[in-house]
Amino acid sequence: MSGTSNVIVVDHPVVQTKLAELRDYTADHRKFRTLLDEIASLMVYEVTRDWPTKPKVVQTPLEKMTGKVLARDVTLVPILRAGLGMADGVLKILPDARMGHLGVYRDHSTLEPVSYYQKLPPDIADTEVLLIDPMLATGGSGSAAISFLKKAGVKHMRFVCLVAAPEGIAALHEMHPEVPIYCAAVDRQLNEKGYILPGLGDAGDRIFGT
Ligand code: URA
Repeated sequence: MSGTSNVIVVDHPVVQTKLAELRDYTADHRKFRTLLDEIASLMVYEVTRDWPTKPKVVQTPLEKMTGKVLARDVTLVPILRAGLGMADGVLKILPDARMGHLGVYRDHSTLEPVSYYQKLPPDIADTEVLLIDPMLATGGSGSAAISFLKKAGVKHMRFVCLVAAPEGIAALHEMHPEVPIYCAAVDRQLNEKGYILPGLGDAGDRIFGT
């Protein structure tokens, strides 16, 4: 794991190997989905590494002991639609998590985020929230989603993506400097259409085969 200024790059060799396979344009939607799912599961270890725990008394078959469990409930919030591609991988490791959904798309002419759907668990405010979207490009959708979650009272939040552009990191941190960004890679730049270079193309299209 490496990083500065609230950006944590999960540079584990297994994650990097899967990321390289997933970037390859010959990976079809089945392979892409599988790899994204596996990377999301692996990233959870780093993303949750310093979450607080609380003691819990457990009766083993032999005696009582005090174990540790997560101190707070967990809410997973994928940004629709590409965020869904990482949701199952995270849920495999955090199966008790609740899920909220935020629908935000990027207007292709203005590159501005347009919010079209919001559904969050009612008690989200005090939970650990993982906001997920594979691509942090302009940062518009991510920033809008974080603002929405803050309005819902969320206090503990991490942004989890696969590939981040420097422009997206800067935009997110300008608005929300306290929200840590976890990614598997920081790529070079955005192109004029707002795609990440070298990137992996349109994550939603590659996940869903559209
Ligand atoms: N969204 C994507 O799916 N890919 C990009 O490169 C940028 C935004």
